[in-house]
Amino acid sequence: MSNEAIAKGEAALLRQARDKFVAVFGRQPAAGACAPGRVNLIGEHIDYCEGFVLPVALPFVTLIVGSLNNTTECNLVSVLGTGEVVTTSFPSSKSSVPLVPGAPAWANYIKGVVANFPGGVGGFDAVIVSDVPMGAGLSSSAAIEVATFTLLEALTGNKVGPVQKAKLCQKAEHEFPGMPCGIMDQYIVTMGKKDHALLIDCRSLESQQIPMELGDLAVLVTNSNVKHQLTGSEYPQRRAQCQEAADRLGLPSLRDAKVEDLEKLKAQKVDEVVLMRARHVIEEIARTEEVGRVMKNKDFKRVGELFYQSHDSLSQLMQVSCPELDQIVDIMRGAPGVLGARMTGGGFGGCVVTLAKKSEIENLKKLVLSQYKGKPIFFVSQPSDGARLVKL
Ligand code: ADP
Ligand code: MG
Repeated sequence: MSNEAIAKGEAALLRQARDKFVAVFGRQPAAGACAPGRVNLIGEHIDYCEGFVLPVALPFVTLIVGSLNNTTECNLVSVLGTGEVVTTSFPSSKSSVPLVPGAPAWANYIKGVVANFPGGVGGFDAVIVSDVPMGAGLSSSAAIEVATFTLLEALTGNKVGPVQKAKLCQKAEHEFPGMPCGIMDQYIVTMGKKDHALLIDCRSLESQQIPMELGDLAVLVTNSNVKHQLTGSEYPQRRAQCQEAADRLGLPSLRDAKVEDLEKLKAQKVDEVVLMRARHVIEEIARTEEVGRVMKNKDFKRVGELFYQSHDSLSQLMQVSCPELDQIVDIMRGAPGVLGARMTGGGFGGCVVTLAKKSEIENLKKLVLSQYKGKPIFFVSQPSDGARLVKL
């Protein structure tokens, strides 16, 4: 298998989806929609402290075509990247049979959207194709949710605003797959814009499009292809430690804290680990805001420095990295053409995001392949558009 995943492009995916729809359902689909994967550039482990995130949408998309079928059954077909075809049928939200989570697991992402679609939706037939790798940390889950929601808007004529759409898709993921995710994924997948990153304020849920014209640079996402077994307590523990720091400062969250507050925490003799977590959050919030500011002036050198600082902080203070992510970042650190690199996502595995000269990307891939012990997969991207209808 190749080490680089290449975006197939909307046109090729649309052709594949239409052909499959005609083959399975014996007619042409009435509408189509697609939604991209995403990667977070900076702002990690601060969403639950009401901080900021700065994701971009990727050129990889999940595309869905479909038609209403005048029944109360939803019939879905998904052609996976491996070529395997999976199918599922379940009652629509207009059926007298209640819609409940269950097997197959993948259907829950669609069921959640159907159950939360405003005004309800009758039966429909649909085919899904995608070049967003599943479970690789690029948010194929938000892509399938938001693509489905956008298709249902076209089929029913019921439309909602983008923030509402993101919130309903987040609710869908909470209720049906049972994943207590934040709002970032659905938000950027809905609102991504070509050559822009989206600065999302996790407190107000307001967002700002930040121009990110990369010129001779590119975003290289390296999937470490490792996912360390967690006990399940790592994430809630860090949330609790951050809340403890905020409580000790008499603040609603660490969003309101300043670097000087770390001295106050020290004076109160708070636990060393709580202090480390608080430092990460306070400084990462400042770094994310700074990236938003300097990117407008195309100061990508500074962006790169902040990437490295963010990684070191996640590794040493938040302690959510792992040897594999640290190794990939260290390989990038010494390499020509690299401005900065950091782990992205929740940690303990997953991806590294690197800002580098386009002309050096091939060399970087070779370097990682020669030194990294695992089996990395690369995605070379530019910031891309969010969810949209596709013209059939
Ligand atoms: P990520 O969002 O990082 O890719 P998740 O575990 O959150 O990983 O979501 C992946 C799951 O979403 C898959 O295991 C599958 O159940 C579902 N999924 C995503 N895309 C598709 C698709 N195109 N077809 C079927 N299921 C999909
Ligand atoms: Mg996901």
